[in-house]
Amino acid sequence: MTLTERQEYLEGGFEKVECARCEALVRVRKSSPQQTSVQWTTDATRLCAAKLNALVPTCRDLRASIDDAVRAGKLEVS
Ligand SMILES: [Zn+2]
Repeated sequence: MTLTERQEYLEGGFEKVECARCEALVRVRKSSPQQTSVQWTTDATRLCAAKLNALVPTCRDLRASIDDAVRAGKLEVS
C-alpha cells in the first residue's frame, strides 16, 4: 500500500467540500442526515473560520455549501 492509498483508506467516507464564500476546502462526512463530521485543514481554518474569529471553526456559507453538496448527490450519507 502506498502512502496515498493508505491516507485514502483512513479518510474513507470523507468528501472534499469547498466553501462558496471563502474557498476553504474541508473534508466532510455525513453519517446521518443530522450528523455531519467536518475535518478542517490548517489552510481552511485560516481562509474560512479565522475570518469569523470564532473558537470553534464554523461558517454559515460552508454549511450551505455542504447542504448543496448533499442535494447534488456529491455527498452520500453513509
Ligand atoms: Zn466559509
